[in-house]
Amino acid sequence: MLKKISILTFALALALSFALSSSTALAKKRRFVSIAAGWVTGAYFPMAGAISRVAFNNLQDKNIKVTAESSGASVANANLIATENTDFAILQNDIASYAYNGKKGIFDEPVSNIRGVACLYPEHIQVVVRKDAGIESVADLKGKRVAVGPIGSGTTENCKQILSAWGLSLDDLGEAQQLTASQSADYLKDGRLDAAFFTVAVGAAVIKDTATIIDAAILPISGPRVDKLIEKYPFYAKQKVAGGSYKGNPDDVPTVSVMAMLSVRENLDDDLVYSIVKAMYSNLDQIHKAHAKFKDLSVEGALDGMSIPLHPAAERFLKEEGVL
Ligand code: GLU
Repeated sequence: MLKKISILTFALALALSFALSSSTALAKKRRFVSIAAGWVTGAYFPMAGAISRVAFNNLQDKNIKVTAESSGASVANANLIATENTDFAILQNDIASYAYNGKKGIFDEPVSNIRGVACLYPEHIQVVVRKDAGIESVADLKGKRVAVGPIGSGTTENCKQILSAWGLSLDDLGEAQQLTASQSADYLKDGRLDAAFFTVAVGAAVIKDTATIIDAAILPISGPRVDKLIEKYPFYAKQKVAGGSYKGNPDDVPTVSVMAMLSVRENLDDDLVYSIVKAMYSNLDQIHKAHAKFKDLSVEGALDGMSIPLHPAAERFLKEEGVL
């Protein structure tokens, strides 16, 4: 009897130690790669999701798991790169440049470890206004209740720059609220806000959904003040929100745009960055399906608007593709 028990104990101990050692081996091999994205109702989040799917389906090493993390967006994401709390980050090209160069008032110090991978698609500055708020131009925002972009967003910087081109500041607004993107939409819908700034891909859920629920319009940003704006901040390009993009908005609306780009921390290893970039560009059909605006993504356009030095692996890939 005693002998039986000790054999059993021995067998159990053996099984346990085997299970433990193989799970440590697994845990060691499993590698999580994070992409700091943006608003769940924006476009960075579906973009990061699409990159994570093509990476999962195409990387040879099945232990690499790419995950998308939501955030306030561009400024927050650059800070996550600075502290190495993310591997990749999606952010606006203007904010990437401000981060790399340590623009005062936005970044405490230069984010010197941020590197470019590729520019993705244009993001339009879309100021959504309630049609009953009596706002026809940027000047009319004076005294109004406005969502100026979430904390950590690039949107807030665009909002300040655009207001300043019209001789206004946040202090001239009736209320300047830093809400999340979904809160901004909710507040617009229930009349707690008159307008909300979103720097985001045309067709983003946050605006589409708002325009189906209330009478909302996109505010035109045009005229000579825009030329001054572009002179001072050359990352802006003149663009239009195509008529029909949202319910109740049949005509084209002039505005400006910046570029969304993928960035990475400098010390992420070359082969990993290379294989993710390659998986992305070899499966563009799948990326294109994730959001209407992602059709603008092409390897030929990867450097249009690139505002910071490239990661060596991105450089290698783009050289091979003949883009560099
Ligand atoms: N461009 C936005 C920002 O940084 C984020 C847009 C998104 O999440 O798609 O403010």
